[in-house]
Amino acid sequence: MANQATLMRQIELDVRLTSAETGVAELSTNVKQALARVPREKFVLPEFRLEAWDNCALPIACEQTISQPFIVAIMTELLQLKYEQRVLEVGTGSGYQAAVLAELCGEVHTLERHELLYRRASQRLKSLGYGVHCYLGDGFHGLQEQAPFDAIIVTAAARMIPRPLMQQLAPGGRMVIPVGMAGYRQTLLLLEKDQQGELKQRTVLAVSFVPLVED
Ligand code: SAH
Repeated sequence: MANQATLMRQIELDVRLTSAETGVAELSTNVKQALARVPREKFVLPEFRLEAWDNCALPIACEQTISQPFIVAIMTELLQLKYEQRVLEVGTGSGYQAAVLAELCGEVHTLERHELLYRRASQRLKSLGYGVHCYLGDGFHGLQEQAPFDAIIVTAAARMIPRPLMQQLAPGGRMVIPVGMAGYRQTLLLLEKDQQGELKQRTVLAVSFVPLVED
């Protein structure tokens, strides 16, 4: 049966196999430690506990999914977070990615549109001792009152990069976002904003996410 150690080896293998596309040769020590510290089994539904250490996405409530651990790892790595930074996540889901982010940086804000998921994730994060700021709302508009962010991570597939998110990224900031049609393979993009506010983007990997819903 898979355990945390076998999962880490799987993730590291996937990182090596995709390094030509992602530009990430290996995970940094702090990202590996963050992944090792977050108890993924606490973020999955009870009936999926045994699969918690498999390197795959799993169903959560509201027909949504907790992302594949390798994808969480690579998206987190691409953000190159530092402890003093502030990060916004769009798509709280189970709260797992938010917990990984909170292991790496001091201020994590996360937005979810499903009330049930928002309630469960905020309770779960609190009970595990994570001081993540959870919000119920439409991530398409970002979180203007807390902007700008040093990093933005979108964990649902957008048809296009939402303009408010581009605006809420700080100079020098990084955003990872899957873009494309839901139900098809999408493209994970890395955007970097320079000090003049200019955005550069590059394609990282083909991915498969649930849709970023536009209400
Ligand atoms: N990061 C999550 C997995 C996210 S699944 C985890 O670690 O478990 C994608 C999530 O994005 C779903 O919970 C979905 O409800 C949410 N979502 C989709 N569109 C959204 C929107 N417009 N605003 C906020 N959340 C959205």
